[in-house]
Amino acid sequence: MAKGKKQFAVIGLGRFGSSVAQYLAKMGYEVLAVDESQERVQDMANVVTHAVSADSTDEEALKALGIRNLDVVVVAIGQDIQASILTTLILKDLGVPKIIVKAQNELHGKVLSKIGADKVVFPERDMGLRVAHHLISPNIIEHIELSPDYSIVELQVPSNMAGKTLRELDFRVRFGCNVMAIKHGGEKMDVTPRADKPLQRADVLVIVGNNGQLLQLEQAYANL
Ligand code: ATP
Repeated sequence: MAKGKKQFAVIGLGRFGSSVAQYLAKMGYEVLAVDESQERVQDMANVVTHAVSADSTDEEALKALGIRNLDVVVVAIGQDIQASILTTLILKDLGVPKIIVKAQNELHGKVLSKIGADKVVFPERDMGLRVAHHLISPNIIEHIELSPDYSIVELQVPSNMAGKTLRELDFRVRFGCNVMAIKHGGEKMDVTPRADKPLQRADVLVIVGNNGQLLQLEQAYANL
């Protein structure tokens, strides 16, 4: 593979892995896609730079693929937790600089962090949380997860909030959440919002807080 741009490998071509591989390839990156299933490899053959069938729990097989020379390896094996852990361990031993692993549950995630995964992702859990935020409040524009327990949400000011000030709304005491900034339509953003200025319908609040408390706040102001 030519040097220059970052080079990736994706191991496990289920829905998540193949989607990661596909987007990286679309963005012009070189991607090595690996799966033990011939059929899955075949499906990716025309999409990525190299698609190879191999068992990633076989150290020799990974060595032969030259995986240690790549910058980032994504392990997207979900169901077979043992294979996911073994693969991560082997990649760590081979000295892969950055290993990102999809976890099936919290415990799996904990083990992966302990054995040296650089980043552990929980796509199903995260998407579930996003959907919950959107279902509870149609006014949620953006949701950024900071940690498993804390997020930033962008909330379009609903009608039952408009005209009130941050002091009156008292989010800190009522929901333990903080309004970090207020967007006044378009590009203008106030990063030191005043407590005594009435909110407008067109404003967007940028709020940081605990996921549970954010959901409660969204529920309390769930009308349009
Ligand atoms: P998704 O939800 O993203 O579809 P999943 O969490 O259900 O995926 P699996 O289907 O368990 O994940 O695994 C994804 C892929 O990983 C499968 O195509 C499977 O063939 C492959 N896989 C599992 N174990 C290994 C292994 N040891 N070596 C290589 N590939 C493997």
